[in-house]
Amino acid sequence: MTLRTLDTLGDLSGKTVLLRCDFNVPLKDGVITDDGRVRASVPTIQRLIEAGAAVIAVSHLGRPDGAPDARYSLAPVAARLAELLGSTVSFATDTVGADAAAKRAVLSAGDVLVLENLRFDPRETSKVAEERAEFAALLTAGVDAMVSDGFGVVHRKQASVFESAQAVPSAAGLLVAAELDVLGRLTETPERPYTVILGGSKVSDKLGVIEHLLPRVDRILVGGGMLFTFLAARGLAIGSSLCEMDQIDTVNRYIADAAERGVEIVLPTDVVVASQFGADAEHVVRSVDAIEDTPFGASGLGLDIGPETAANFAALVESSKTVFWNGPMGVFEIPAFAEGTRAIAAALTRVDGLGVVGGGDSAAAVRTLGFDESAFGHISTGGGASLEFLEGKTLPGLEVLGW
Ligand code: ADP
Ligand code: MG
Repeated sequence: MTLRTLDTLGDLSGKTVLLRCDFNVPLKDGVITDDGRVRASVPTIQRLIEAGAAVIAVSHLGRPDGAPDARYSLAPVAARLAELLGSTVSFATDTVGADAAAKRAVLSAGDVLVLENLRFDPRETSKVAEERAEFAALLTAGVDAMVSDGFGVVHRKQASVFESAQAVPSAAGLLVAAELDVLGRLTETPERPYTVILGGSKVSDKLGVIEHLLPRVDRILVGGGMLFTFLAARGLAIGSSLCEMDQIDTVNRYIADAAERGVEIVLPTDVVVASQFGADAEHVVRSVDAIEDTPFGASGLGLDIGPETAANFAALVESSKTVFWNGPMGVFEIPAFAEGTRAIAAALTRVDGLGVVGGGDSAAAVRTLGFDESAFGHISTGGGASLEFLEGKTLPGLEVLGW
């Protein structure tokens, strides 16, 4: 089966298109702090406008409790979208209520209307299929086609993602198609050597990816909070560092499986050990077998990979043809513990081949550390969705588009 692309929808001139976007941007006091996801939606919107369609763009934002909540309004997104498009964008203060109906009624070719946050209606994420179908029927009423372009939500069976795509002719937008093109290259015939870098806080979040990638990759570099569960599995003392004791058996199983397959699991040789968690913590570099051998003793905690490890990881990344990176190497939100993440990001920009960043915090790290996004082969807009794709799971929002 192949993904239905925009051209399968035929001539869209004079038609009305429901466009599922992922406008789930970070907001601070009603101001968008990172508009990456709004910008990512622009090519598809422009394509639809040029084709002569009227566009009704919908999305969720945050986790409101199935009821209107001004903190999660999409109004700032509609305003930002208007700036990016350089044209007027209308905004409805509800999704399937009176205001949306009035604004839909006056839409004409080339117009863009943004509806309020879909999750203000509990039917969007309802566990009951009939309730989702009912909401989808209202969203798609009077609509000629549905375009799915919110890659960050394709792993969710939700009304605007799944049932809406069943209700009317539907296809993937340009962003979803581009994401699949790149992620597909990571799972099908990646050029070797293929290196995967995993970090972030919880090893249990990443075990599925490790399992699925083990048969395909040459090496896995382990950093972030999860590295300490690996060190503990090797019997090393890790002080007060993050550790998931209940995952140690699983980690040992993966280490054995990797050895059998000839996949190298590369662990850090040094780490940055801090006196406590915080921006003003004292910190020192120690080799991984001496984490408790600091003035902080057993209360010391590892918050970043050390400089020797960063240099070693960077060299392995740069000598690879395909690299997938998920999960920061340390607590990058605090400058003192951001150097490992910075070194890996820099190495990724120098890969002679395909270098992909996946994961919400990893993508945010790359941007907040000041890297130019265009220096990377690809930065995935979907954290959970890209991981589930790499785990080989069936994603409902893609299946419904013929994938
Ligand atoms: P992603 O969203 O890219 O998949 P995760 O959500 O798995 O990444 O992990 C991101 C978080 O991991 C960051 O907030 C970072 O501070 C945290 N982290 C990284 N290294 C450590 C560490 N050594 N100890 C505690 N937290 C860590
Ligand atoms: Mg995260």
